Amino acid sequence: MQASVKKNDQVEIAIEDIGSEGEGIGRYNGYTLFVKDTVMGDKALVQVMKTGKTYGYARLIKLIKPSTFRVEPRCQIAARCGGCQLQHVEYQKQLEYKENKVRNCLTRIGGFTDVVMEPISGMDEPYYYRNKSQFPVGRNKDGSIAIGFYAGRTHAIIDTEHCYIGAEVNTEILHYIRSFIEKYKIEPYSEEIHKGLLRHILTRVGYSTGEIMVCLVINGTEFPHKEELIKGLINIQGMKSICLNVNKEKTNIILGEKIIPLWGEPYITDQIGTVSYRISPLSFYQVNPIQTKKLYDIALDYADLHGDEVVWDLYCGIGTISLFLAQKAKKVYGVEIIPQAIEDARMNAQINGIDNAEFFVGAAEEILPRAYKEEKIYADVIVVDPPRKGCEQSLLDTILAMAPKRVVYVSCDPATLARDLKYLCEKDYELVKVQAVDQFSHSVHVETVIALHRKDI
Ligand code: SAH
Repeated sequence: MQASVKKNDQVEIAIEDIGSEGEGIGRYNGYTLFVKDTVMGDKALVQVMKTGKTYGYARLIKLIKPSTFRVEPRCQIAARCGGCQLQHVEYQKQLEYKENKVRNCLTRIGGFTDVVMEPISGMDEPYYYRNKSQFPVGRNKDGSIAIGFYAGRTHAIIDTEHCYIGAEVNTEILHYIRSFIEKYKIEPYSEEIHKGLLRHILTRVGYSTGEIMVCLVINGTEFPHKEELIKGLINIQGMKSICLNVNKEKTNIILGEKIIPLWGEPYITDQIGTVSYRISPLSFYQVNPIQTKKLYDIALDYADLHGDEVVWDLYCGIGTISLFLAQKAKKVYGVEIIPQAIEDARMNAQINGIDNAEFFVGAAEEILPRAYKEEKIYADVIVVDPPRKGCEQSLLDTILAMAPKRVVYVSCDPATLARDLKYLCEKDYELVKVQAVDQFSHSVHVETVIALHRKDI
């Protein structure tokens, strides 16, 4: 479509939707414009910055009529911070947006019509929910220590000690570490010159146990005055694990592979429902414990287990879903690519006295096809919970060949979810249940659980 505007034009538009980065979306004579700092329901005067074939970008000049969905964010840095994109949008509207996002993906990418969804599962109190936080360390323009969050789309650090979606105890931890590195003149890492020691501070907090882990990510293998550091940190109630993570690479990836335990156990323990989980610094663990319980309950419900089923849980992490399922299945097999996570999964089975779960290290798209070819493995139910890029086609083909009665797909990206479902449902499965869960309140992200049933039963 020909753009109905050109660069620098100022036009008045109504914002109708939110884009994937939290920006407002409106139309001018049918031409789509993405406008940062606007919210659905706004009437705004905007200036066109860039036009493309099918859509363009504009910036907000003036709010003519603010949306009734706007709210004052609790956090003062919410507009700049890359962490929350939607804090200025009423929570109910955030939920509606996320549910629509899932529905739209299923319709547009998946080709499903008349998708019936359970209402999205939201939080009662969508603050202080994250059990894991990662704070970059650097310097402010005036040379003072900066600890906080990256500003949206940049690596400029917004210096702050309080995050409204992280664990409240983080403020105390950051405050102490800041004074420590000031006192001992420990140099923060600089990305530009690839020098300096302290890169990130990672914290994990067990929601139901209150156990705390602090892990300092360093460009080196030694931390000066570590005895002193430990002495201070263990005064914080709940401290269970203090460690270093070595990351000497020139990379955006936060964590390196090597962990050096400094004090306590190299893990913390948390509980979801009646199952206890050991969590190491490198292991994946869902970040929102309150919603995770709901997510796993839905997955368990969709798996519809009666005690005699064989279940494969692919992308199992530290065995969280596997052990949830094992309580109701005959046997659960978990597959996960990170060896340390599988060590945790095996330990988790043991500490919970669960003996009907077995775990394998490797890529799901390699382990499953090979095991099916060589050993003709069988499944009544297959659960997948892949990272954002979704499942490889070779894995989907193996699922089709194994023909489990039910497939439960837990997804953090509705677009790849819809793509994979389309593939499975063009063949032998039908989409039976869909529910979105708000795991990431105030961000644009959404988690979804779906149930597929084999068409012929
Ligand atoms: N089900 C788990 C983890 C889900 S996150 C939970 O709810 O906690 C996705 C997991 O997939 C991560 O642990 C990641 O390490 C793992 N992973 C990524 N690519 C993989 C692959 N190709 N094969 C198997 N696991 C993979």
